[in-house]
Amino acid sequence: MAKLQEYIDAIEPSRRTPDDVYRDRLSVCETCPQLSGGMCRLCGCFVLYRAATARNSCPDLPKRW
Ligand code: SF4
Repeated sequence: MAKLQEYIDAIEPSRRTPDDVYRDRLSVCETCPQLSGGMCRLCGCFVLYRAATARNSCPDLPKRW
């Protein structure tokens, strides 16, 4: 997970999701049936990383965040 945190830290501040929104996104993922081992089954992304970029969204239809 240390490497994943490095990728998250490397996201430009202007592109990063605000902390409160980031927490909200991750709390939705935590209870989502598509989450498996920290990865989203729909997109194959680590949600910690996907949720950290502001313009990203949940790949589900309808979107969960
Ligand atoms: S990104 Fe969306 S579909 Fe994937 S685990 Fe999070 S809430 Fe679920």
